[in-house]
Amino acid sequence: MSAIAIDLPEDVVAARDGIIAFAEHEVLPRHAANQKLFEDPRALYREDGRFSDQVLSLIREVRTASAAAGFYHMCAPEDLGGAGLGHLAYYVAWEALFHRCGPHNWLMLYALAHWAFGPSRLLEKVTSEARERVMPGLMSGTQSMCFGLSEPNAGSDATMIKTRAERDGDGWRISGRKIWTSNAPVADYCVVFAITDPEKAKLKQGGISAFIVPTDAPGFNLQRVIRLFGHIGGDEAELAFDDLYVEPWQLVGELDQGFKAALYGVSLGRIYNAARSVGYGRWAIELALEYAKTRESFGATIANYQGVTFPLAQSATELHAAHLLGLNAAMLLDQGHPAIKELSMAKAYSVQIGFKAVDQAIQTHGAMGFTNELGLTDAWHSLRIVNVADGTNEILYRTIANRMLKGDVEL
Ligand SMILES: Cc1cc2nc3c(=O)[nH]c(=O)nc-3n(C[C@H](O)[C@H](O)[C@H](O)COP(=O)(O)OP(=O)(O)OC[C@H]3O[C@@H](n4cnc5c(N)ncnc54)[C@H](O)[C@@H]3O)c2cc1C
Repeated sequence: MSAIAIDLPEDVVAARDGIIAFAEHEVLPRHAANQKLFEDPRALYREDGRFSDQVLSLIREVRTASAAAGFYHMCAPEDLGGAGLGHLAYYVAWEALFHRCGPHNWLMLYALAHWAFGPSRLLEKVTSEARERVMPGLMSGTQSMCFGLSEPNAGSDATMIKTRAERDGDGWRISGRKIWTSNAPVADYCVVFAITDPEKAKLKQGGISAFIVPTDAPGFNLQRVIRLFGHIGGDEAELAFDDLYVEPWQLVGELDQGFKAALYGVSLGRIYNAARSVGYGRWAIELALEYAKTRESFGATIANYQGVTFPLAQSATELHAAHLLGLNAAMLLDQGHPAIKELSMAKAYSVQIGFKAVDQAIQTHGAMGFTNELGLTDAWHSLRIVNVADGTNEILYRTIANRMLKGDVEL
């Protein structure tokens, strides 16, 4: 029985069930077969912090197998060759993947095109030449990309970016820096946001454009891989552009209107991260419930103690609410509403209660909760990060408050 009274459309259910069957068939066995590799950080990463060749080849295998099976690009626009499924399918599929696979089977992250790493609606307005040059690699899963918006001095207020694209003949020359760019250490392309009209940018009336750039182009420099949480490698990088030449075919969307694309990309990230938090939260609570049924103390299983079960019940209640918030925001987007307030609520709430649920599951497990085998601390790291990435909780509350002060008070 479903705990949710909303009937999901048939195509969304088919997409969800299909991608879970794919993960069970293609992802879980790969983890089982490569357990030694995944448990050894020195084998996972190269000296410079990027994934090792062996890991990259497994990632590529999952992407290409999923593309061949029709799942990888199912949420990419139809005219780019995707199945054109909407925001609801994106939310539901990611939530199911995180819930079913948990943090151990992380190759599932490559079963469905991440909005910033693979083909997604972000690329809806690429030029016809980019469709020919860039899209085949992205659609087939042989190549990937990244999203370069944040800079050392432009985080929450991304309008403060300094990266500049100056006219040079028909094209532009880009100079500047980016930071925290996820997937940049191994990506083939980067969507770079740069100022093309400083006057408009200063007045916050456009003036920022998006370009799709091969990461091996002259002037595109990976400065360093950024390591987080004590890991010896990482997914994020710092980039520097030095006289990086881009041609008109590389423009994504309209000139000077790139910030709209950036905001839309971040919205997709908010759906993804809301789904990730609910999925991991559900996975963790189920693990904790199973443990509580078997672990004994003071003559009974700990499931007999309300001090153990009530916090889990509270987390379950919050996850249920977060799930409904996420479904609702995605459905509003599919209906053509901007859902700025509702998506902000869904993301801000989901990341906090998802993190809390994982933390509670760690507590339920006692010392066991910290072991590498259980993977709870991986989920904990992952959900700590999403309280910052794609809009911090404070920025999301700021957005909600601003919308409400302007009269958008429907709840
Ligand atoms: C793991 C990870 C991956 C990322 N991947 C990418 C990526 O692929 N591409 C990309 O472009 N960026 C990426 N980012 C960057 C991310 O978007 C920024 O970290 C985020 O926007 C916050 O910016 P900041 O870190 O500079 O924090 P700041 O903007 O410096 O904020 C610092 C603190 O001040 C608070 N604050 C700021 N302004 C206000 C205000 N008006 N009211 C109240 N509080 C405020 C913030 O909430 C925060 O707590 C990633 C970040 C992380 C952690």
